[in-house]
Amino acid sequence: MAAEVRPRLTVLSGPSGVGKSTVVAHMRKVHPEVWLSVSATTRKPRPGEKHGVHYFFVADDEFDKLIANGELLEWAEFAGNRYGTPRGAVLERLDSGEPVLLEIDLQGARQVKDSMSESQLVFLAPPSWEELVRRLTGRGTESPEVIERRLQAAKVELAAESEFDTTLVNTSVEDVARELLTLMQLSSGDQDHNG
Ligand code: 5GP
Repeated sequence: MAAEVRPRLTVLSGPSGVGKSTVVAHMRKVHPEVWLSVSATTRKPRPGEKHGVHYFFVADDEFDKLIANGELLEWAEFAGNRYGTPRGAVLERLDSGEPVLLEIDLQGARQVKDSMSESQLVFLAPPSWEELVRRLTGRGTESPEVIERRLQAAKVELAAESEFDTTLVNTSVEDVARELLTLMQLSSGDQDHNG
């Protein structure tokens, strides 16, 4: 059995529109070495989203194959589309000693905790329900039907907050990014913290 403690796998989850991607983008500006898994999805790209950078945009039958071949560490259907974490890339990073960050939904977070109990689950909460509605609606990239589905999903996600190891409230992108780095044991001066 390997004697070394594996670096931590951190899962960032929270309702759609809460600002997960903004927090992660900010964190990676400061710490470009933080590796974020790129998920596969059957959702269509939003303007500006790039294949292989934001997601691997795949057709339904390709996603079926990824599942059938066991290539996904976890996957879930969210608001009418499927999303999944490619298993190989995550395990490679962990084996090479790098911390890994996944930004996935509640269903995926639960699956990761079940299969990799050493992972830490971080919940990103909105400052208020009204603020979440405002952010999700104000994004302007989704139809009213899709926004409604995402708000329904958000209610379920918010109710599951207690399943997470830590909650961060997204009042300030900078603060949350810093707190997340500390949780991933990446902030300077926090090196000998063993978790
Ligand atoms: P969006 O369509 O807004 O990019 O993502 C919708 C939801 O799917 C978000 O909550 C996002 O975190 C989640 N998501 C993105 N990638 C994955 C993944 O690989 N697995 C799971 N389970 N959820 C994901």
